[in-house]
Amino acid sequence: MRELSGIPAAPGYAVGPVRRVQRDAVQVYRRSIAKDEVPEERARFEAAVGTAREELTVLRDKLTQELGAGEAAIIDSQLLMLEDELIWDSTLSRIRTQLQNAEGAFAHSIGVIVSQLDGLQEKTLRERIADLRDLEERVLRAFDPENRRATLALDRPSVVVARDLAPSETAALELENVLAFVMDEGGATGHVAILARSLGIPAVCGLRGAAEQLPEGLEVGVDGTVGWIYTEPDEAIRDRLEILAQQQRTVSRKLDYLRDLPAETPDGHRVRMMANIELPVELTEAVDRGAEGVGLLRTEYLYFQHRDIPSEEDQVVTYGQVLRRMPGKPVIFRTLDVGGDKVSDYLGAKREYNPFLGWRGIRFSLSNRSLFKAQIRAIYRAGAHGDAHLMFPMISGVEELREALAVCAEARDELTAEGREFRADMPIGVMVETPSAAMIADHLAGECQFLSIGSNDLIQYTLAMDRGNSRVSYLYRPLHPAILRTIRSVVDAGHAAGAWVGLCGEMGSETRLAEVLLGLGLDEISMHSAALPKIKQVIRWTELAEARRVVDHLISLRTAEEADAWLADYVEGRKRAREAADSPGPEDAPA
Ligand code: PEP
Ligand code: MG
Repeated sequence: MRELSGIPAAPGYAVGPVRRVQRDAVQVYRRSIAKDEVPEERARFEAAVGTAREELTVLRDKLTQELGAGEAAIIDSQLLMLEDELIWDSTLSRIRTQLQNAEGAFAHSIGVIVSQLDGLQEKTLRERIADLRDLEERVLRAFDPENRRATLALDRPSVVVARDLAPSETAALELENVLAFVMDEGGATGHVAILARSLGIPAVCGLRGAAEQLPEGLEVGVDGTVGWIYTEPDEAIRDRLEILAQQQRTVSRKLDYLRDLPAETPDGHRVRMMANIELPVELTEAVDRGAEGVGLLRTEYLYFQHRDIPSEEDQVVTYGQVLRRMPGKPVIFRTLDVGGDKVSDYLGAKREYNPFLGWRGIRFSLSNRSLFKAQIRAIYRAGAHGDAHLMFPMISGVEELREALAVCAEARDELTAEGREFRADMPIGVMVETPSAAMIADHLAGECQFLSIGSNDLIQYTLAMDRGNSRVSYLYRPLHPAILRTIRSVVDAGHAAGAWVGLCGEMGSETRLAEVLLGLGLDEISMHSAALPKIKQVIRWTELAEARRVVDHLISLRTAEEADAWLADYVEGRKRAREAADSPGPEDAPA
């Protein structure tokens, strides 16, 4: 047995066989283009075919030299297909008349030929399908050499092991068969960790190369609570993990009585307890844990579950289903936040040198207007059936907010003109997750209805630490004085401008921080569902005035270390006092 240590990314325990993620299939990235993009898309198509032609020529020459002309004939036939008039005409005409991007148009042309060949009896013609698909893959990779996606059929419960996983790849897994995630890369606020916590699947990240060494099928024990992996665990370790899992279930059941109680302090201050949702399957858990609504619906995951961009109609249906699962409760739909570590090839958000400073969130949406408008229209339309809210990610200035609001106004005008049902007065908010947004929170709050602090990004950008890089994950310090000051000033600025202020980053799920969040004056905390009861319990125990004193003291300290140490002592002292007072209190006692 060997023990490996990584970053505890999602709590929980599991034992099972390793299933390694392989990357092999290409994705087709489809989007609509504007008329003036036609020449550029045509040129991209010609360039991609040119690259594929060069590669095939080199391959043919090599095969001819090594194995003879006969063996190279298959490459010759692919080279001929590449010049096929039918493929060229249909691709170029689709770009021009259907205003589809080059990859989408090319894949469509191949698809049409394949379906024709598929219907034929003639075996040799049907065999051309494999060649065509091979060619299609080559050309699609020529458009984007990074175009590779993990595919993994999980036929039995397994521990999924990879160097890292894109959110689109994670969302595509058969999650019911995922016992745990084990990754070489990533930190506690990376997207695998967030999704794992939301789904209640244990995860260990940041194994720095050790995960890639784990062979397929090897039995491993995973302790996501402390971040340990045990290869070929012995009986003692298996028993321990099983006992810990049972204890976790017992603690969780003990808090069930809190489900329908409000998160209200003994001195009568209420905070809304909301759930963060990536995939609709998480809604059941959110309802079971007593969420008062959805404080952050990361809509990009709904896109990642599709091979193609979901249409407006598809989105209306999906968003409507979410609202119906939360009757009468607010659901904050955050518009697409691709880019950063949430790259989806088919959406065209590419890998970049500085991805978190790149083409991300609202920047991506504002430069893909038709995609953005379709999403906003869908949210407005679904809003006719529930308490939908709309929120923009990665805002860095008032200009972006105004541009996004203009798209909302256009969407409302269009929907009115079309005579469609929609929620015209939908509240609109902004995520405060860049330092610039935090500094101008008063201006932003003056032009929308609410602010929601995205502490994962706000910490990453304020402390200049890449949230997905395990080497700098030690710098993720929510109690850094700069972070506490920033959050407090955002809350005060938002309130002064008449907006309510919430927080939806991972720091909202940390039990030790519950008093701090209360004392910072947040109106709403949104977290992964499993964290709801514990956070609520702390709020029900804590006077607002006491929480404010805690924050005042923490903010006066100069380092995150001092703040962490002071808070740990404070929380321990409170716990002991509570135990001495015979917790739970009579008003909270289960029947
Ligand atoms: C955040 O940045 O805190 C946030 C909630 O958004 P995401 O984690 O999706 O970037
Ligand atoms: Mg964010």
